Amino acid sequence: MSAEAPDTLQVCKEEEEMAQLICPRDGENLVSQEVEGHPVQACPRCEGIYLEPGELNEIAEPIPGDLEVSTLELDTFDHPDSSAPGACPRCRPVTMKKVEFVDYSGIILDHCPQCRGFWLDGHELESINREVRRLNKTASEIHDPPWLFLVRLMASLTR
Ligand SMILES: [Zn+2]
Ligand SMILES: [Zn+2]
Repeated sequence: MSAEAPDTLQVCKEEEEMAQLICPRDGENLVSQEVEGHPVQACPRCEGIYLEPGELNEIAEPIPGDLEVSTLELDTFDHPDSSAPGACPRCRPVTMKKVEFVDYSGIILDHCPQCRGFWLDGHELESINREVRRLNKTASEIHDPPWLFLVRLMASLTR
């Protein structure tokens, strides 16, 4: 019997390949980059970022409610966007679906049905934070507005 472990090299190589994420827009290798204090995978060419499930909530401005749950639960996954559907950086060739951030924001994100991660194009985090600030402002002016109610409802349903 051999004491060799012939599969070790193979496994390492596969892990390496899986770890390298590719930009869905331009095919560039994604690199680790810090956004709002969180390490994320970002494209050095188009400045898009891939977010694991939960990371959008962490890097976006704080809001009472779950931005990801609200976005997905309220959505119909059928939106025209300036960019064509792309393959998920992690699960390619799985194609990401177009999803509208929260509701009626006009911000169209890409969401992977397999890993439940998000792809944000270069300008989209900025747009998201602008929308979050608007929603927070609305919430502070109106007592329990419908939107906040909806977010809380969705968050409680999926718990
Ligand atoms: Zn890119
Ligand atoms: Zn994925």
